[in-house]
Amino acid sequence: MSAPPICPRCDQDQIQRYRFKDDGVVFSLCTECDSFWWPQTATDVANALFLDDVVAARLGEVENPWTNRIWADVIEPASGTG
Ligand SMILES: [Zn+2]
Repeated sequence: MSAPPICPRCDQDQIQRYRFKDDGVVFSLCTECDSFWWPQTATDVANALFLDDVVAARLGEVENPWTNRIWADVIEPASGTG
């Protein structure tokens, strides 16, 4: 019923639900500033991670995970799937 919350880090965009395509794990993401939240944490600045860091950690890479791939290879919107 309620609208998605506005990102507390950039104040620009709504926080949306996304999921990893490989295992379906859901998380919250601001596509404006790439802030990332696991579902078990509050979507506040203190708990905000960066998508790049999370993806790099999942892939076992250290720096920029987007040299060989794009967002759509890794994540997809999770809205509308109940
Ligand atoms: Zn943001």
